[in-house]
Amino acid sequence: MISDLIVNIALLTSFTFIWHQVFKNNPLTLNSPVKIKILDGLIGGVLGIILMHYSIQVNDITILDLRHIPVILVAYFGGIIPALLSATVISVGRFFIDVNFSSIVSLFMMFTMAIGAWIIVLYVKAEGIKKWTILLLYSQFIFTFALYIVVDDFSHVIHIAFYHIISSLIGGFLTLYFVNYIRRYSKLYNQYKERSQRDALTGLYNVRSFDYFYNLMIEKAKNEKEHCAVCIIDIDYFKQINDEYGHPAGDEVLKQLAMLLKKLMRGGDIVSRNGGEEFSILLEKCNLKQAQEVACRIRMAVEGHSFTLPSKKEINLTVSIGVASYNGRTNDTEKLYQEADDALYKAKQEGRNNVCTSSET
Ligand code: GH3
Ligand code: MG
Ligand code: MG
Repeated sequence: MISDLIVNIALLTSFTFIWHQVFKNNPLTLNSPVKIKILDGLIGGVLGIILMHYSIQVNDITILDLRHIPVILVAYFGGIIPALLSATVISVGRFFIDVNFSSIVSLFMMFTMAIGAWIIVLYVKAEGIKKWTILLLYSQFIFTFALYIVVDDFSHVIHIAFYHIISSLIGGFLTLYFVNYIRRYSKLYNQYKERSQRDALTGLYNVRSFDYFYNLMIEKAKNEKEHCAVCIIDIDYFKQINDEYGHPAGDEVLKQLAMLLKKLMRGGDIVSRNGGEEFSILLEKCNLKQAQEVACRIRMAVEGHSFTLPSKKEINLTVSIGVASYNGRTNDTEKLYQEADDALYKAKQEGRNNVCTSSET
């Protein structure tokens, strides 16, 4: 019997580990969309059925396992919907094994567990491991009570319940540990991933992301024989802003310009801060003339925008923009960025607050 319970613990923990690994980007919470709650409820039910198939036969009609843990697990994270669903799936699965007094008791047991677990989740003040312990003890109590109803020999119930409580607690705590572990590390991983792609000051893509999206855009344009374009935007006389109002004021200007650029661009356009006071925009399916129009729109919008410094003083500034495009037909894909940079240099030379274009490659 002990080895069977160990098999149950191993099944429970490995299944929940894979389950939450697969759903790490859509973790089940009380505020999850109904779709996620339904899906997790069904998967919890499937886990319950698997656990039942590796159960221990107690007497002719009674089987013992850890099927209650998936029910309280989904109740703990997602509330009543997934709890009721997994209880339903498990009860139906139990009827497929056989229909007798024990399976009817099991039906009532699963629903009492699901509803009771939901009430505990909602109304018991304890958090984390304390709440989980209460849920485990509650479900264990219901399970032992159901066992008492279906097994005639009381001393037999005590004997079984003892092993069952031990394995429920071990399996239950390990399961919660795994789920919390995956959730915590997935969240951290996503945060670090996001930070590695973004510029800390402005929240725009950083130069590393720019490189990635730049190569992706060129590759796509080449494959689809489509146009694409790059605009490099540089603030005019930015050093003077730093010198006159201080570095924090300069930072504030960079943040506000980033917001303005994001507002001006379409969702699919990639806006990056490539370093210092230099920004860039990647435009898919855009020829030189269209990119020039975009750049002129940006230049005018910046010229007409008031930037508010931390001192509440409002200042105006201008940008110069270099534009270049690629027609998706030549093999010379390296030149695009260099041409936009040369065009920017030209725009600065010609007096700033200006847009210059390269000739199309
Ligand atoms: P130009 O019109 O030729 O572009 O002149 P400029 O003054 O904008 O260009 P320059 O390259 O001479 O100066 C850029 C300045 O940008 C110098 C540097 O201190 C400042 N800078 C670079 N990164 C940051 C930043 O993150 N925050 C702030 N506040 N300033 C920065
Ligand atoms: Mg500048
Ligand atoms: Mg510069």
